[in-house]
Amino acid sequence: MSNVQIIEEQPVGFQGEGFLATNLSTVVGMARKNSLWPLPFATSCCGIEFMSTMGPNYDLSRFGMERLSFSPRQADLLMVMGTIAKKMGPILRHVYEQMAEPRWVIAVGACASSGGIFDSYSVLQGIDKVIPVDVYVPGCPPRPEQIIDGIMQIQELAGSESLRRRNGDEYKALLESYNIK
Ligand code: SF4
Repeated sequence: MSNVQIIEEQPVGFQGEGFLATNLSTVVGMARKNSLWPLPFATSCCGIEFMSTMGPNYDLSRFGMERLSFSPRQADLLMVMGTIAKKMGPILRHVYEQMAEPRWVIAVGACASSGGIFDSYSVLQGIDKVIPVDVYVPGCPPRPEQIIDGIMQIQELAGSESLRRRNGDEYKALLESYNIK
């Protein structure tokens, strides 16, 4: 029995002996979903859970793509993990703005998603107050399986996204609602 694991199915298309014809959007989506480069923006305990997700037990590398980047210019998946103080909001937003399109965002855990238990004057009540979020991972902290599931949800989004979405009026209006150019 072969040990080779297929992580991506052949795209849908018209095929015959020795050829496959498909559309550009499908191929680009397939490439994007299998080459996500996350930027871990970890500020507290959820970041520790992410470290565990990176370890051999849970093995985030199972996708063969998770090249972590600590430069926003070389990342397309912003993973926000931990409590974000209001003072940190502009910095988070600055990091997001430095990322090139297409870019995706995961709010990992209750604090990043909603402020969590810290309903106080100093804590941002969810990172979607300053940047758009694609996937929310619940939990305090979320289990590594949940973090991996969040990444798989992003893969679904990246793989099925239309090539025109980022130039569309709806997306532009979304960024404008955050005052992001
Ligand atoms: S959600 Fe819970 S575990 Fe995660 S940063 Fe907040 S307090 Fe810590």
